[in-house]
Amino acid sequence: MKAGKEVELRCRLCYDHRFVAPALQKIVRCPKCGTKWRIRWFDEDTPLITGVAPSTPKEIMERMKQETTP
Ligand SMILES: [Zn+2]
Repeated sequence: MKAGKEVELRCRLCYDHRFVAPALQKIVRCPKCGTKWRIRWFDEDTPLITGVAPSTPKEIMERMKQETTP
């Protein structure tokens, strides 16, 4: 496993928007829509998006703060 390797992923929500993520990273965030995806790696070149990663309580708090800010 080489450090610093990046692999191209395709966001399910943005459909054709491609972005790169560090290989073997389990949670990646789409820079376009901000969705965090849970990734399963068959090997360091073959990622599979398995679903949306759950938000942490801290992130939920931050989101609520943003929504209540005028
Ligand atoms: Zn996206």
